[in-house]
Amino acid sequence: MAAELKKVNVVTVGVGFTGGIVASECAKAGLSVVGLERGGYRTVEDFMEIHDEWRYAVNYGLMQDLSKETITFRNDRNMKALPMRKLGSFLLGDGLGGAGVHWNGLNFRFFPYDFKIKTMTKERYGSKLSGDYLIQDWGLSYEQLEPYYTKFENIIGVSGESVSPFDGKRSSPYPLPPLVKTSVMEIFENGAKKSGCHPYVLPAGIASQAYTNPDGAELNPCEYCGYCERFGCEYNAKASPINTVIPVAQKTGNFELRCNANVVEVLKKGNMVTGVRYINTLTLEEFIQPADVVVLGSYVMNNAKLLMVSGIGEMYDPMTGKGTLGKNYCYQITPGATGFFDDQMNLFAGAGALAIGVDDFNGDNFDHSGLNFIHGGLISMLQSGKRPIETNAVPAGTPSWGAAFKKASINSFTRSLGVGAQGASMPHRENYLSLDDTYKDAYGLPLLRMTYNFTEQDRAMFDFLTGKIDMIVKNMGAKSVGLKSNSKDYNIVPYQTTHNTGGTIMGSDPEESVVNTYLQHWDAENLFVVGAGNFPHNGGCNPTGTVGALAYRCADGVLKYSKKSGSLV
Ligand SMILES: Cc1cc2nc3c(=O)[nH]c(=O)nc-3n(C[C@H](O)[C@H](O)[C@H](O)COP(=O)(O)OP(=O)(O)OC[C@H]3O[C@@H](n4cnc5c(N)ncnc54)[C@H](O)[C@@H]3O)c2cc1C
Ligand code: SF4
Repeated sequence: MAAELKKVNVVTVGVGFTGGIVASECAKAGLSVVGLERGGYRTVEDFMEIHDEWRYAVNYGLMQDLSKETITFRNDRNMKALPMRKLGSFLLGDGLGGAGVHWNGLNFRFFPYDFKIKTMTKERYGSKLSGDYLIQDWGLSYEQLEPYYTKFENIIGVSGESVSPFDGKRSSPYPLPPLVKTSVMEIFENGAKKSGCHPYVLPAGIASQAYTNPDGAELNPCEYCGYCERFGCEYNAKASPINTVIPVAQKTGNFELRCNANVVEVLKKGNMVTGVRYINTLTLEEFIQPADVVVLGSYVMNNAKLLMVSGIGEMYDPMTGKGTLGKNYCYQITPGATGFFDDQMNLFAGAGALAIGVDDFNGDNFDHSGLNFIHGGLISMLQSGKRPIETNAVPAGTPSWGAAFKKASINSFTRSLGVGAQGASMPHRENYLSLDDTYKDAYGLPLLRMTYNFTEQDRAMFDFLTGKIDMIVKNMGAKSVGLKSNSKDYNIVPYQTTHNTGGTIMGSDPEESVVNTYLQHWDAENLFVVGAGNFPHNGGCNPTGTVGALAYRCADGVLKYSKKSGSLV
């Protein structure tokens, strides 16, 4: 029998960037907030001497424990889905701060085009995509989201330069100057300019200088230690929820954090939610936390799963096209190339978001008239530091073992550069999330099932972007180039990107979306669901800038709702 706790104004499920932002804004405004995080407690001090590639980068030391909870996967709905037993294609966060602790820090805004993709595609190209592609406008314009983008960038202290001719209009510059442009990045810059592109140093949620954010949280300048992606930052330079929004929420005295608290159900009565049921993962005791408002910030997978297991909303059915919950699951395509050079380069220093790129083949920044796909992707080169175990690029034709392999591997270690793209992903009627009918998690709940495959649009974009990457790498002066091949089917095993989106999409029409443009659930006005699951399609760059902006918009919605209930739109 679950013990019922004292009611609070707001409960957040998950305390990563989304849960942390909503918690800090609500606590600052005087609301009582409880944050329930399934993973353990951690602070910046826990990352001292964390430079252990085997433990953190190869064996995913900070990430979700799949023996307790995972997802099942299949390429199409006629296949039997099987559980993902080891993290691979994407890396799910766990513990206080979520994946925001071990992210790279690349921090973008989507283009104005993304928010009106259906309307703008129709205006420019007519009916270019078949009806199987479920593209839709977001119900919110770039201009409406702009103040929230600015807010998130100021809170995490984004270092950047606004020189890309393709950027949406900004109300203010980035709070910090860009990270250093190294001589290695200049090689990309020259190659990109020679290819007729417009390179810029990419915006980073990593402080280039000492920074105090508007909430008073402090960040130190980056040391370019090279142990960033998949690691916590021991210098307190990479912005994460645990050095920005969470301590700010804690300082108010209105925020109670409970770690090792795994939420298993959102409780609903009539058309309102009343709180959540959770299990203390250390004692296995069960609790009910009543609240005036419930906010789901438990990432794409669990936001969708919790709604599904709680019976809130209509499940998407790919046969009929009816229902919205689980619809529009999207990912990204990741074409790339390795260029091999004659001269040695210093690649040991780096940072997760130390990068340079071009948006010339992203969004609708180029004419798609003769092409059989829409949108595109950011092409970039990351100087994140070389990891001795994982970095082993060798030119084509090198034997895969023995003395010749070792010689080529040692030679190429400081003479190879990777250039890659993040290609946008359009929703398809056959790509969706649902509940598995066989496999269960440690708490007896069905696992979330992912049905996903690359589409014709993905494959056409992959070939197009590969051609552009090849051109840039050759113009960088590479003596040989190894190109990544276009795979017919999506494979969940090799790492690609942790940019999962959709399943709990936003919009202006309850027939087409799960939440409205304040991320308020259409079927329960005191339930908010926030994260990349809200994206109706996935853009051609990293998602967290947009996730952070939506979380500030959601917090605004919760505060408005706490003063005057009812639908916010
Ligand atoms: C290796 C890596 C690199 C990345 N690099 C970048 C980058 O450079 N740029 C970028 O834009 N994005 C990047 N990302 C993605 C970025 O980390 C996410 O977009 C961001 O962290 C999402 O925040 P969130 O709050 O939605 O989810 P999360 O960070 O996943 O937080 C959700 C939290 O909810 C908790 N939770 C889940 N289920 C429950 C439950 N049932 N009960 C209680 N708690 C629960 C989880 O433990 C977690 O702490 C990267 C991700 C990874 C893994
Ligand atoms: S590279 Fe910079 S931001 Fe990243 S972990 Fe090292 S010091 Fe921190």
